[in-house]
Amino acid sequence: MSTAYDADQVAKLPDERIISLTPDVWTQPFWDAAAHHRLVVPRCTACGTFRLPPSAFCWKCRAQEIEWVEHDGRGAVYSFTIVWHPLLPDVADSVPYVPAVVELPNTNACRLVGAMVDTRLSDMRIGLNVELVWRDVEGGVAVPTWRPAEGE
Ligand SMILES: [Zn+2]
Repeated sequence: MSTAYDADQVAKLPDERIISLTPDVWTQPFWDAAAHHRLVVPRCTACGTFRLPPSAFCWKCRAQEIEWVEHDGRGAVYSFTIVWHPLLPDVADSVPYVPAVVELPNTNACRLVGAMVDTRLSDMRIGLNVELVWRDVEGGVAVPTWRPAEGE
């Protein structure tokens, strides 16, 4: 029988009700692509610097113009935590879940947050190679999640 802190458990998904988007002119293209299960990363058209999350001005050259570049969704875990305690009793069935910060190669170290899926808690480590899996949620929205890449 597993206990609440059993590291042999598989990560669950956070309850869909905690997912809430407030897109703006800078982030809407990301979510539009996500809805079609495409990962895109904004890149400054003036100097080529990727900037995720998207921002009004390039942190390097201050230009505003960006282009959205497709990414294959493969990366490596930069950081993560294991959420054992639900903030609300209603979402108690969704713990433990594992939000992970994943660094995307070839993007000047852009990082994207998503929950781990198909992952045993004891297998989590910094540097774990992962691949993106889109999670469809209510309202035609898809959010990124991660699972260990083949061979991990
Ligand atoms: Zn720039």
